[in-house]
Amino acid sequence: MTKAIWAAAVAVGAHAGPALTTVAPLRVRFMPGLSGIGRRTHVALTFDDGPDPEYTPAVLDRLDTLSVRATFFLLGTQTAKHPTLARDIAAAGHEIGLHGYEHRSLLRRGPYATHRDLTRGRDVIEDLTGLAIRRWRPPYGILTGAGIVAAQRLGLTSVLWTAWGRDWTASATAESVLATVRRGLRPGGTILLHDSDCTSAPGSSAATVAALPQLVREIRGRGLDIGPLREHMSE
Ligand SMILES: [Zn+2]
Repeated sequence: MTKAIWAAAVAVGAHAGPALTTVAPLRVRFMPGLSGIGRRTHVALTFDDGPDPEYTPAVLDRLDTLSVRATFFLLGTQTAKHPTLARDIAAAGHEIGLHGYEHRSLLRRGPYATHRDLTRGRDVIEDLTGLAIRRWRPPYGILTGAGIVAAQRLGLTSVLWTAWGRDWTASATAESVLATVRRGLRPGGTILLHDSDCTSAPGSSAATVAALPQLVREIRGRGLDIGPLREHMSE
């Protein structure tokens, strides 16, 4: 990654929270890999914040019925609490990535704490699933310079998203999730959803589970394949 791109990526991180959407078009244009832009005939489906005993099994069940594989960005804390669920995700053929050990904004963490969090999260997930972790998505999508350095040192590719369902809000419904994803949906894009409400409104992930069948139908109806990032990105 060149210095110019590093600086741009850090600038993205400086615009935390909802403001991230305002810089998304620039990010998509200048950092397509970071934004999750992949094959034009494909859409990547990703889930953050799991595993979760209430929602991960339901998501896995829906995906199995729909014959869809996805990428799950797991938390180290959740994986340590629910290792069997993490192994269930892997056994079902899904890709597993790292979301962090703890779900904390990197803006308040220095280089050492950032590197320690990513290393701890990766080690817990790899030890408990037996899979090698290749991708990382920072909590809240906030990418800092320390985060970029830590990910590079650990051989992790950073991936954000191009569309989300705002499925973390208390008012989320299947219809609202679908409508929000539709607004950002594009060939070659990456969708962010959640299979856990451990960092969001209690019960919000139920809307995600309910939205999945129609979402997959609509993507396939556009003539697009849907799958994990490993089938989406060139590297
Ligand atoms: Zn998250």
